[in-house]
Amino acid sequence: MELVCTLCGRTDEAAPDARTCPHCGVEGILDVVYDYDQVRRELTHVSLAANPERSMWRYLPLLPVSPDTPRPNLRLGWTPLYRADRYARAIGLRNVYVKDDGQNPTASLKDRASAVGVVKAVEAGATTIACSSTGNAGSSLAGNATAAGLRSVIFVPERAPQGKLAQLLLFGATVVMVKGDYEDAFRLSAEAIDRWGWYNRNAALNPYLVEGKKTVSLEIAEQLGWKAPDWVAVSVGDGCTVAGVGKGFVELHKLGLIDRVPRVLGVQAEGCAPLYRAFKEGVERFVPEPEETLADSIAVGVPRNPVKALRAVRGSNGEMVTVTDDEILAAMRTLGRNAGVLAEPAAAASFAGLAKAAATGLIRPEEVVVGIVTGNGLKDVRSSLRAAGEPIHIGPDLSELERALAARA
Ligand SMILES: *Cc1c(COP(=O)(O)O)cnc(C)c1O
Ligand SMILES: [Zn+2]
Repeated sequence: MELVCTLCGRTDEAAPDARTCPHCGVEGILDVVYDYDQVRRELTHVSLAANPERSMWRYLPLLPVSPDTPRPNLRLGWTPLYRADRYARAIGLRNVYVKDDGQNPTASLKDRASAVGVVKAVEAGATTIACSSTGNAGSSLAGNATAAGLRSVIFVPERAPQGKLAQLLLFGATVVMVKGDYEDAFRLSAEAIDRWGWYNRNAALNPYLVEGKKTVSLEIAEQLGWKAPDWVAVSVGDGCTVAGVGKGFVELHKLGLIDRVPRVLGVQAEGCAPLYRAFKEGVERFVPEPEETLADSIAVGVPRNPVKALRAVRGSNGEMVTVTDDEILAAMRTLGRNAGVLAEPAAAASFAGLAKAAATGLIRPEEVVVGIVTGNGLKDVRSSLRAAGEPIHIGPDLSELERALAARA
């Protein structure tokens, strides 16, 4: 395993506390590369079929952790992939699958990254691990850290939804709520990490976290019987998730485990879409934007992983779209009612993007599509209620109920 700089291409040894390229500074995001000949011998369709491990750790040869390091004692990954026919019809498609990553230990895809971060912190000999977070990176870090016996310090912006805040505090993190937006929380966390020498879980800067996130793609491919879908839709904030999703498929292709790479549909919120606009202009530089969307997990005005994110989408011959908050709320409803899966706003954004791509003809009806639920809807009950509509309000009276039901029919 080695680290390669995404800017200058220099290679470096993979120290457990590695961050960005020593030559390029914070913009020199590092990428983990493996000895793929070795991995090809260890990870095969046959070896995986015989592997009883029902978690993301079943892909250990393709993960940047030593098999001997203790791991958080939680069931990470191997989340369900549902075929969702009724949902598919509702958005005008025929073959849609829902990857429910809300079923991770702390109810978001971020658990995959935090678990790897915690293992690397242990390898680095750290006792405290820290990050800034719109909510899920922090709650997943807090949960995985405590399960592995580490302390965590989490910086969140004031707007973090209550469900995520409750998780952070219950998992025993030191929670620093920063007056300001995510960017302010990020900057303070970086200064504090420098000052106190904590292990840094900030997703773009720590090259190992994307490796955890990519396991969602490894699972999708395996759960589809090693037939790559035509499209995978994922929402985009900092860009680490989409980078991980893309890398997972590229590596499977390199290893000969799938015969093509699916197109990645990256979805941003209209009210905060710096990476979408950079994508459309064909550049790798973005212009910072205000964070104006209810999808708090992707409200990232200064994304930290633009290069990896944009290359993942472009490299897959993918596309990017934006969706409005109303479209996100509608997607939460459509998914809940037709598939029985609750998505938080940022997660529903990818499904709103699918619906839009289906409506504009970008995705053809017969194509095989996977949408990723990156976080569970119960994390943000206030937005879920906004999307949900009203219950029937009546007294304990059958005839009142009869009238109310008739009025609804
Ligand atoms: C973090 C997050 C995303 C986006 O991931 P980035 O790495 O920030 O692009 C999407 N959905 C949910 C629920 C998240 O928590
Ligand atoms: Zn470099």
